[in-house]
Amino acid sequence: MEEIDEIKEVISNYDKDNIRIGVLASHSALQILHGAKKEGFETVLITIPEREGFYANFRHLIDKVVHINTWKEICRDEVIKKLQDLNVIIVPHGSMVEYVGSECFLDLKIPLFGSRKIMEVEADPRRKMQFLRSAGIPTPREFSLEEDFDDLVIVKLPGAKGGRGYFIAKGKRDVVKKLGNNRRDVIIQEYVVGARAYYHYFYSPILERLEILGIDIRYESNADSLGRLPKSDIEPSFTVIGNIPMVLRESLLPKVMDYGDKFVKATTNVERGGIAGPFCLESVVKDDLSIVVFEFSGRIVAGTNLYINGSPYSWLYWDEPMSMGRRIAREIKLALERDRLYDVLR
Ligand code: AMP
Repeated sequence: MEEIDEIKEVISNYDKDNIRIGVLASHSALQILHGAKKEGFETVLITIPEREGFYANFRHLIDKVVHINTWKEICRDEVIKKLQDLNVIIVPHGSMVEYVGSECFLDLKIPLFGSRKIMEVEADPRRKMQFLRSAGIPTPREFSLEEDFDDLVIVKLPGAKGGRGYFIAKGKRDVVKKLGNNRRDVIIQEYVVGARAYYHYFYSPILERLEILGIDIRYESNADSLGRLPKSDIEPSFTVIGNIPMVLRESLLPKVMDYGDKFVKATTNVERGGIAGPFCLESVVKDDLSIVVFEFSGRIVAGTNLYINGSPYSWLYWDEPMSMGRRIAREIKLALERDRLYDVLR
């Protein structure tokens, strides 16, 4: 519980009239900076030298730059002090835990809009699937090399991310052949046949409601392009290249919201107050219209970058252009107005 109180103390020393929104120069930083400016906040970009040139193209979105030489330097006392002196709230994104390491991330003495412990669960593939199952959300069947099976499976090697390091196999013999001696810590999952859909949720502790702000499909190489070739022996791979927008049959939305609600409820067992803000469930919709969730992200996903001007869903709640980045800043603003900042920070 120690770190929670420390965050409370850090916030109590912040100048609430000069809160700044900070982000690491990667992933969905541009959207987060843009949204923060739209809501009237000053912004802080935390960057390493290699990224400065690119982000300088968007200096109209950036009020202050905090320079670090390596991402891990964000954990140094003098950098933390500098960020605290600027009253910075950091919005963590998909690159943050990866770049700074989970140990530093969990204990970072800077308030975060977003989760710490749920992102820690996300970083562990087995805990992640266990979490989804315990939430009551349908997930793909899992197999072990101790049993015999003949199913079409997707094999996820340890350390695989962004879809890289996966392969498809048919039955145990094929899995064993393709794995070679590389058998430790692999996850063997039913390959769910259907159409993929990735749901962008936002949970608001202030309005006490779950919003669905967008849906996308990830475009993956080369799995999404194999249909262009004559039947060949090329193995499908799942490296994420970009994202494509999607709207869902409206009759599927109640189920999508139900799984989102279940997720939010389960997060209260993991972190003080549960999740605050963005998260994503990543699914396959089968031809019987059942939804199987094979992954979650406990923070903003890059697919939200599609909707910088709002999505067909965000308009239903807000009637104004509302990106995920802007929605985050709006929640911070609402919390400040109600003197409830601590309730949305972790
Ligand atoms: P992930 O890194 O878990 O998000 O997976 C990367 C990609 O692999 C997904 O976007 C899907 O295209 C594919 N994938 C992962 N798990 C499954 C599964 N159980 N069934 C079908 N496709 C999957």
